[in-house]
Amino acid sequence: MKQTPKDKKIMARMQPGVITYSGFLGNDTRDFNQVISDDEMVLEELGKSAEDIAARLEYFQQKSFDAFEASTVVDDIYDVNTEVVRGYLPCPFMHQGVYRKSYTTVTNTKSGKSFTYSALNIHLIRVHHFFEGKKSHFRLEPRELVAELF
Ligand SMILES: [Zn+2]
Repeated sequence: MKQTPKDKKIMARMQPGVITYSGFLGNDTRDFNQVISDDEMVLEELGKSAEDIAARLEYFQQKSFDAFEASTVVDDIYDVNTEVVRGYLPCPFMHQGVYRKSYTTVTNTKSGKSFTYSALNIHLIRVHHFFEGKKSHFRLEPRELVAELF
């Protein structure tokens, strides 16, 4: 897919050291549009929308905020903890506004599998259907999220 000037700006903002230390694309050689459309195909196969997943991640994060930074158990099997650090992150897709640096870790205590994500990840998934590039620090695999968190 040919990149528009806006796409090029977004790609630049996704590089390491621009918005986040490690960037949004990891070692992925695809551009973000391709990452998004490949993940959308997986979601279709799974029968869940990006909005469904974002809502689920936000649900855990909210439960965790309600617990005032202590660890909390949600829906009997999920151990949830949120760490809030100083500072804010902007959206690499050039939206107005910033997202609090809050990192939520959800562990499925039955499988032992954990996921860590920020408020920005929830926005990226909900609005942009972007789960980040392969091996990116905050890459979330749609297939794993659906298997472990629903
Ligand atoms: Zn955005």
